[in-house]
Amino acid sequence: MGIRILPEQLASQIAAGEVVERPASVVKELIENSIDAGARAIFVEIREGGRELIQVADDGCGIPPEEVELAFMRHATSKLESADALSHITTLGFRGEALAAIASVSQVTIVTRTAESTAGLRLVLEGGQVRRRDTVGAPVGAVIAVEKLFFNTPARLKFLKSVAAERRVLDEFVTHYALAYPHIRFRLSHNGRITFQSSGQGQLQDVLVEVYGLEVARDMLSISNPESPNEEGVSPIRVRGYVAPPSQHRGNRNQITFFINGRWVRDTHLTYAVVQAYHTLLPVGRYPMALIFIELPPEEVDVNVHPTKSEVRFRHPNHLFSEVQRTVRNVLLAATPIRPLGQLTQSAAASWAGALGPAAFHRSDDPPPAVAGTLDLDWPTPPVALTGRATEAETTAPRPTEPPTMMGGTRLPIMRVIGQVGAAYIITEGPDGLFLIDQHAAHERILYEQFMAAHAARALPSQGLVAGHVLHLTPTQATLLEEQMERLNQLGFNLEAFGPHTFMLRAVPAVLAQQDPTQAVIHVLDELEAGGRPLAGEIEARLIRRVCKTAAIKAGQTLSPTEMEALVRQLEKCHNPHTCPHGRPTLIHLSVAQLAREFGRL
Ligand code: ADP
Ligand code: MG
Repeated sequence: MGIRILPEQLASQIAAGEVVERPASVVKELIENSIDAGARAIFVEIREGGRELIQVADDGCGIPPEEVELAFMRHATSKLESADALSHITTLGFRGEALAAIASVSQVTIVTRTAESTAGLRLVLEGGQVRRRDTVGAPVGAVIAVEKLFFNTPARLKFLKSVAAERRVLDEFVTHYALAYPHIRFRLSHNGRITFQSSGQGQLQDVLVEVYGLEVARDMLSISNPESPNEEGVSPIRVRGYVAPPSQHRGNRNQITFFINGRWVRDTHLTYAVVQAYHTLLPVGRYPMALIFIELPPEEVDVNVHPTKSEVRFRHPNHLFSEVQRTVRNVLLAATPIRPLGQLTQSAAASWAGALGPAAFHRSDDPPPAVAGTLDLDWPTPPVALTGRATEAETTAPRPTEPPTMMGGTRLPIMRVIGQVGAAYIITEGPDGLFLIDQHAAHERILYEQFMAAHAARALPSQGLVAGHVLHLTPTQATLLEEQMERLNQLGFNLEAFGPHTFMLRAVPAVLAQQDPTQAVIHVLDELEAGGRPLAGEIEARLIRRVCKTAAIKAGQTLSPTEMEALVRQLEKCHNPHTCPHGRPTLIHLSVAQLAREFGRL
């Protein structure tokens, strides 16, 4: 058979298959159109799970009579003007496919009127072909009735699930849109009986009760991330919504719902972020319930991924993932009556540390041991004696015990990430037992080695700030900064004097790109201030350590599996993976033999 172009009708049917999979897809597309049309009320009527009738009536703007036929053509839309606009879509529709797709596989009747026209128009289409057109009396808005769904695509018809199954999916769509748009009055009826309605008064709490039932709704915890300052390069993300307390759980992930800029989307990564936030709080095999609304600049989301528009891509998925996870986790930890993980870990880890000797365990947010800063194990600087405190250091702060490893050398063995505890430690498995890694200390170590390598190669990357930051400093800080300005500029800062006690900051070392630039400088100055007047050779090392400390992830930050994996892989590559640049241990090793002893097996 030679190559031919498919007839228009057949091409439309094929394309329709992607948009209209089942009755619920019709409902979704019609509701989205009603929302885009500015409706205040949306009434959905279903007969026989959508096989007989799907009707959506709204009081939106309606379609002008001369455009109604056009609306049912493929790629006909009033919502997208140019390719440019595609990168910041603010309407739910934009592909101009839905009405055409629905019409091509069913019989559609539309009655619509705009505020400008005196009479309404009724149009009947079958398999995409106009069958009837007449003028009728009608209120402003649109009523679209879809009958005989899939009458001309028997294969689809055969695959339709039971009425009950279709109903469930359909209910879910309507109720979830009601949650996302509490200002719109929704009503859903099946076979003439109203099964769901929302008031449209804008009270999300009321809708929650309708959707989840009073019991669950009453217990749900409201979440909201702190408004992040619009730092350069970091887009402001708003995460709001409700999550169920750990006492309420379900057997699957279906009750985890996301709306991105008002659009219901499915995203396995975000779902996973929520599941992870409940990590250890739920019984194995149980899943949380969550309703999460995410607001972010439209250009941060690509909604044009799939014809159903229920999958999206994010420009900064990891950032969003962490933000969602942290927001949920924080609320859970604050609300959970059981002992929060933080405490559990602390005591468990402390007793392990006990078994390993006193110096083996420090929590990353504990103050470092008295003089650890001068006890650098690996910094190629003047030996400890030069600091003038060597003897004291040796007597009061024993050198942290190097955890024994299978390899015997300083490098780490290849490890398998198991998980995170207390949002502070990563657990891994190595060839001989397990490791507890202090995420902050480990990340400090990684950044430090990367920073030193770049420094040695004279290739310290710097991050320019779009608008310079003006720093107003105390006289002491100003003096310190003046003295060290050149050195700081060599490390990737770009500072210049800008008046009395005032400096202009135009760039920071690239590792600090995610941090508040002003705070980063202050931290570095604190370091100089606190340490008295260190010897010249020590200053740079100290500054670098301080920069890495500021840039490193903190304890309390929930990490995604990918983030943990990356951290561990990078730590394995370090030359001195066992300690942070300040000399505190990055990890604790529990060998198989130790475990066996602890459990009385030996
Ligand atoms: P899209 O929503 O992607 O633009 P559709 O095929 O769903 O494509 O709809 C085509 C056009 O018909 C829309 O752009 C809109 O102008 C108009 N339209 C559809 N439904 C309605 C409605 N309920 N009220 C007013 N206008 C509508
Ligand atoms: Mg649409």
